[in-house]
Amino acid sequence: SKGYTTLKTPSQNKGLGFTDAERETLGLRGLLPPATLTLEDQVELTMQELRRKTSALDKYVFLQSLQDVNATLYYAVLSRHTYECMPFVYTPVVGEACQKFSQIYRHTPQGLYLSLNDRGKLRSILDNWPVEDIRAIVFTDGERILGLGDQGIDGMGIPVGKLALYTACAGVHPSHCLPVALDVGTNNEAKLNDPFYIGLKRRRLTGEAYDAFVAEFMEAAVDKYGKSVMLQFEDFGNNNAFRLLHHWQEKVCCFNDDIQGTAAVALAGILGSTAITGTVVNDHRFLFLGAGEAGAGIAELIAYAIQVETGKSIEECRKQIFMLDSNGLVCKSRLGELQHHKINFAHDAEHVPDLLSAVKALKPTALIGVSTLAKSFNQAVIEEMSANNERPIIFALSNPTSKAECTPEEAYRWSDGAAVFASGSPFGPVEFKGKTYVPGQGNNAYIFPGVGLAAFACGATRITDLDMYIAAKALAATIPQDQLDASCVYPPLRDIREVSLKVAVAIAANKYATGQASVLPKPADLEAHIRSVMYTPRY
Ligand code: NAP
Ligand code: MN
Repeated sequence: SKGYTTLKTPSQNKGLGFTDAERETLGLRGLLPPATLTLEDQVELTMQELRRKTSALDKYVFLQSLQDVNATLYYAVLSRHTYECMPFVYTPVVGEACQKFSQIYRHTPQGLYLSLNDRGKLRSILDNWPVEDIRAIVFTDGERILGLGDQGIDGMGIPVGKLALYTACAGVHPSHCLPVALDVGTNNEAKLNDPFYIGLKRRRLTGEAYDAFVAEFMEAAVDKYGKSVMLQFEDFGNNNAFRLLHHWQEKVCCFNDDIQGTAAVALAGILGSTAITGTVVNDHRFLFLGAGEAGAGIAELIAYAIQVETGKSIEECRKQIFMLDSNGLVCKSRLGELQHHKINFAHDAEHVPDLLSAVKALKPTALIGVSTLAKSFNQAVIEEMSANNERPIIFALSNPTSKAECTPEEAYRWSDGAAVFASGSPFGPVEFKGKTYVPGQGNNAYIFPGVGLAAFACGATRITDLDMYIAAKALAATIPQDQLDASCVYPPLRDIREVSLKVAVAIAANKYATGQASVLPKPADLEAHIRSVMYTPRY
């Protein structure tokens, strides 16, 4: 019956939210108990049930199951309680969910699984998805899921979680979003040996055939959804991520959040720190611990920012940025062995093997941790930074919490309260010598939902480094004075929807200015236009 189908269709179902009149016209009488609830009541009830669940994974499964039953309610819960729900739809719990994804698989389509078995047919498979008007795709090949390594097809949890934040944090309508898992095999032995693993049981495809499969997908998506469909690369391995990004960013509307989104969030934090210390980015000398996707992405965007602000050549700007990887300082004498993404930062400096020696030799003003090496910003390192700088910038960005290079408490204590600190994982405020410090969290959710909203609202045909620089500046401009006074370089996460709007407006303005917008003519009031396309879940 019509009523039964309505109740079984997540995008139409309101459960007890159907009014008497709707129950009459939709044929729902008898299928529901007599009581009616408002959406607000249902949100409240859902939160109560969520809070009763004791395990984090149970909370994750509970929220995902709600999405399968009543999508409006799911997004209402996420939008109104973003701060509380975020850890259960995204990091850190989504990590555990990916590790166990095959076990908790729920038999309802959450996105498209495109495997090597589908080679040559990807374009027609896109027609199997029930929605035609897709504007944003987040896709992974599952090779480097968070800090957890290769999860194969089980990495699908990441695109699903990221797109939930597009909606919760930036109001991109969920029906325009499509999560995609590209299954090119996995090198994860445990998955290969797991009888219940839901992906292809073969080793990863590599080389030209791999590139060709990714290309088939990219071309199919642009062919089906048009040149302004936004494709977000997520959690690709180090050996593919940079090459794919460089190949595709000039051709389609795409970006890599691990490289570029991270870069914009970190640059915003640096800009926030300059507001606190009364300096400009060009005044600083940066030392990175870690030279992977995050490190190289952040370093390149900082160099880009210095170039924009000073007019110096990009090579000159890069000379203010040094990096250490697992073999010590990245420098000229190592050129022969360095991965491509490190070469721009291989300067003419003497090789030193460890962080403390590098801090002593190079005297950086800012230390940025993207190494996954827990506790590496130790007392000696932070004391050395403090001896050289009135206000040392210390960003310990490695996730999850257990991987952080130092805690905020350590940074403040060892610098006698002088450090301008930010972390990758959430930490609470710290009391030190009678002052309250609020450690900012460099969460990528400050940037990527706003990028998605901008792309959707103006029909962006490219996402560029300039967009990321502009996004960082827009984010930094939202930090309230009382946060800066507490040494915090980010706005409160609770304000994320307004922050995403500001980020989106700034990017969209640039898309119109550079002729990379396809929603024409340009709306007279860009902010009002973007606000008007933001989705608010309601019945
Ligand atoms: P990645 O591509 O795997 O890079 C890790 C880097 O750390 C590599 O350059 C690696 O060196 C280096 N490294 C590992 N052990 C080291 C050691 N003992 N000493 C010095 N360097 C060492 O990973 P990623 O994507 O860049 O992510 C790195 C970390 O940043 C992760 O913990 C991630 O959670 C975090 N992150 C945070 C945010 C955020 O806060 N918003 C965003 C993105 C990433 P080799 O190159 O020699 O292997
Ligand atoms: Mn990622």
